[in-house]
Amino acid sequence: MNEMRYQLDLLKAMNQKLTAKDRMYHLICDTVSCAFLYYSFDKNELTTLGKWRDFFDFEIREVKEISQFFDAVEDAYALPLLDVIFLEKNHQSFASIECYMKDKKAWYSFSTQVLYDEEDHPTDKVICIENITKSKVQNEELTYMAYYDGLTGLYNRNYFVRLLGEHIRRAEEENNVVSVMIIDIDDFRKINDGQGIIVGDELVQQLGSFLKELCNDKVMVCHLNSDIYCLAIYSPTGNCGVETVIRQIQERTKQPFRLSSGQELKITVSIGVAEYPEAATTPLELLNCAEIVMYKGKAMGKNIVQYYNAAILDDFLYSVELDKKLKEAVFNQNFEIHFQPQFYSTDKRLRGAEALIRWRDTTGNTISPAVFIPVAEKNGTIVSIGNWVVEQSVKQYMEWKKQYGIDFILSINISALQYSRDDFVDNLVAILNKYEMDSNCLELEITESVLIENFKSVSDKLKVLKSYGIRVSLDDFGTGFSSLSYLMRLPIDTLKIDKSFIDTVLTDHATQIITESIIDMVKALGFESIAEGVEDERQFQYLHDVGCDVIQGYLLGRPMPPEQMEHVLEQAERQIY
Ligand code: C2E
Ligand code: MG
Ligand code: MG
Repeated sequence: MNEMRYQLDLLKAMNQKLTAKDRMYHLICDTVSCAFLYYSFDKNELTTLGKWRDFFDFEIREVKEISQFFDAVEDAYALPLLDVIFLEKNHQSFASIECYMKDKKAWYSFSTQVLYDEEDHPTDKVICIENITKSKVQNEELTYMAYYDGLTGLYNRNYFVRLLGEHIRRAEEENNVVSVMIIDIDDFRKINDGQGIIVGDELVQQLGSFLKELCNDKVMVCHLNSDIYCLAIYSPTGNCGVETVIRQIQERTKQPFRLSSGQELKITVSIGVAEYPEAATTPLELLNCAEIVMYKGKAMGKNIVQYYNAAILDDFLYSVELDKKLKEAVFNQNFEIHFQPQFYSTDKRLRGAEALIRWRDTTGNTISPAVFIPVAEKNGTIVSIGNWVVEQSVKQYMEWKKQYGIDFILSINISALQYSRDDFVDNLVAILNKYEMDSNCLELEITESVLIENFKSVSDKLKVLKSYGIRVSLDDFGTGFSSLSYLMRLPIDTLKIDKSFIDTVLTDHATQIITESIIDMVKALGFESIAEGVEDERQFQYLHDVGCDVIQGYLLGRPMPPEQMEHVLEQAERQIY
């Protein structure tokens, strides 16, 4: 207690001695977040101020004590710091430096200011010291983020593209080649969605670590996004040849990936390869080409290596163009519906008509639905297109019904995407009600791809359609997985034998056996059989003889515009009355 009182009295006495200005300086120095080292040349005295003690845990009172301070500085910074501190030697008035203090494990900045008198002699010097560790770490993190991907530690896309640009420039000068491959994990979504993103992330990290091992001064790799990596090889020959690198990747993926949970995962990858200068001359175009061919390969089956060729790119550009034009066509409703009649094989009476969409683009070219329906399914426009087809054909059907008074079946093709929508049945029933069409005259054609999605929900929906009296036909039978066992469990009415069977039914014995078994089975199950694509009389006669119920094809009627269909209806009307 006495000691404290003594210190307090001393401080008071010292304070009284200080001028108001001194007090102001002290106050300022104590409130800022820096430390100061003040040196008076006249008195050869050193004073430490501000946060000095907080920073370094010791004071410097004499010049010789500065060596203690240098001991704490990381060796590499000691000399440059010495230079800055003894700045007056160089007759500079200001200098600054950043140093790492090893015992504190912290970064400090040192800024020195020297004052000179009229004769150019230094009089005072102050060194302002700031702890910059936090901003230094933040800067390092930012720099890391600018170049690397957080998940895999591989280069990120931006930095990789920059480096690839440098490779390409060098290849241009040296007349060399740069190969780029896009590597994509097959069915990654299933893993990510089915087993969770922790598993997905760990897999991406592990494959990333393996790809990193392939890197050297010619090979570099980046994590593009999700499960996609890009690897670039400058001058791909020898150990760094494209085939060699691909073989190494495939060898690795033959082995399972062991996750930290102990779980083992087997994967395959699809790879697209494109080369400078053959495929493209800029980094982004090169990546784009490799990606396009990779997806092309994937579409043909997984675990595949697809090399660039110009035809693939042309196809892709065509589909992009088509995609754009199709969206415009949907907006402007630039479609027509043609109708192809179907006839009973026994007496050639009209059974029904299949509505087939036609698209005439702005240049007057007709684009086949076989080409644009898959594009519409991909870009989602199939839903609007499908609704339009349903409404227009029902409307047309009812006009004919009023005009000719005959009952026939209107068949409409329905795509899997359209069918899977929750509002599908409600919309359909609303249209039937709007035009007062008898639901027994409407038939929906679905393909096996609809069934693949989810057999249970598909057949439940079929039952709902049946409850409204709507007929269902299985289209293109024989082109998909064509399992006969599911046929028995499906509430369908009609089965359409694909044209590919009809094409060879007269010449190929095996096709004949299959076709006849399908017809027999359909009969036994109580459905109706329709043969599609019947083009000649012999085919017709054969199908009639083996008991196929209905015939559709160019022989009896091509798909035709509504005006022409009216002649068919007039004839049918005459047959009845
Ligand atoms: P699909 O439903 O199997 O239709 C039969 C296709 O075979 C039609 O081709 C038709 O013109 C053609 N065809 C009919 N008889 C013969 C023949 O004797 N010989 C030959 N060579 N071909 C014949 P189209 O009109 O080009 O339609 C192709 C496919 O596009 C259709 O196959 C159907 O899957 C789809 N499609 C057509 N319209 C629509 C639609 O409105 N909605 C949906 N989702 N798909 C449609
Ligand atoms: Mg069809
Ligand atoms: Mg068909």
